[in-house]
Amino acid sequence: MKIAVIGAGSMGCMLGGYLQLGGADVTLVVRRKELMDALNEKGLTVRMYEDGDSASSLNIPVKAAVDVKDLGVMDALLVMVKGPDTKAAMDSAKALIGDNTRVITLQNGIGNVDIIKGYVPEDRIYYGCLNMSATMDSPGTISGGLFGSNNIFIGSVTRGKKQKEFGEGFCELFRKGGITATYTDDIDREVWYKLLMNIAVNASCGLVRLRGGEAGEDPQFMLLAMDMVKEAIAVAHAIGIELDLGYFMAEILPTARKSSGKHYPSMAHDMMISKTKTEIDFINGAVERLGASAGVPTPVNTTVSRLVRVIENNYQRQYFPKAKGNAASFTITINEKFCKGCGYCVRYCPKNVIIIEENDKAVVKDLGGCIGCLNCATICPEAAITVSKE
Ligand code: SF4
Ligand code: SF4
Repeated sequence: MKIAVIGAGSMGCMLGGYLQLGGADVTLVVRRKELMDALNEKGLTVRMYEDGDSASSLNIPVKAAVDVKDLGVMDALLVMVKGPDTKAAMDSAKALIGDNTRVITLQNGIGNVDIIKGYVPEDRIYYGCLNMSATMDSPGTISGGLFGSNNIFIGSVTRGKKQKEFGEGFCELFRKGGITATYTDDIDREVWYKLLMNIAVNASCGLVRLRGGEAGEDPQFMLLAMDMVKEAIAVAHAIGIELDLGYFMAEILPTARKSSGKHYPSMAHDMMISKTKTEIDFINGAVERLGASAGVPTPVNTTVSRLVRVIENNYQRQYFPKAKGNAASFTITINEKFCKGCGYCVRYCPKNVIIIEENDKAVVKDLGGCIGCLNCATICPEAAITVSKE
């Protein structure tokens, strides 16, 4: 099966790698030439982590492209861009879509299927959700984690024999590649349970500027999370999707906490570090939208969505401490035991204070340049850096 992964960032690359291992002919469509070159020259390296420890590492030969015009028509497109980019991604992928091309979206949240319906008929659209995490440590090298008893759920917009056959076949490629994947007619339930997880922590971690695990230790944060989750469950019920709060609390939330508690959710990352448009309209904003049309009040999700939109609209005007450039002002501590050498701190430091040494560990090279912006401590996926003011 000829498959193009559209918007192959960390998760898209990882999924494409597993499809390739499962026997598909995969092209990873990426944004940056640097990433394309690294993937084509050195393949994709995937390091899997379990409970914070490295469990396995593999290298997968892959094809990558920035420009899709010579790739030809695909059997399937796997769409993995962030929600706000779905329309632009589908516009740019038109040359890959033929009369039989299927489109699968495993993006976060609710709303991407409606956009994709503008490009292919709904009997060729599939959607689902993931119980996986992925971080790109350097171009072509991904750290990943799997959680839950099943890593990928896929279903189809219209339910028929043809859709089931294709969906089962697509999942079989993942399974042959080495991860669990299930085609199900009950896909909305799985997608909504995943949505509840995102609703509980993604936007609010960005607002309070805490990692998932840190935020989860605060009872006030958990009350906020539960208010949003309960509203979402009420909206789901109103549109015919039965969800159980007890099951979510007992089975789903603890697994998610265990696997991602050390990280900033992607929306928090967008709000604090990359300062880009977030997926708010596909997560809490989707609950706000669907609640309004179903007549279910969603005051907490609406308030959180509005706060995130205000931040998105004003990145350039927000308050940040003024640069001091004073050698005596800040102390930076890097815990060597936790550092895995991903280089994010180096890339996001505006003053070139940190370097990676030959042993793949980050060290402070020029403390005098530090302006205390906290980018390094915020971005570090291992929480290895502490910046303090003297
Ligand atoms: S300190 Fe953190 S961000 Fe910097 S290289 Fe180590 S793990 Fe990566
Ligand atoms: S606090 Fe800012 S300036 Fe200082 S080392 Fe970290 S990223 Fe660089």
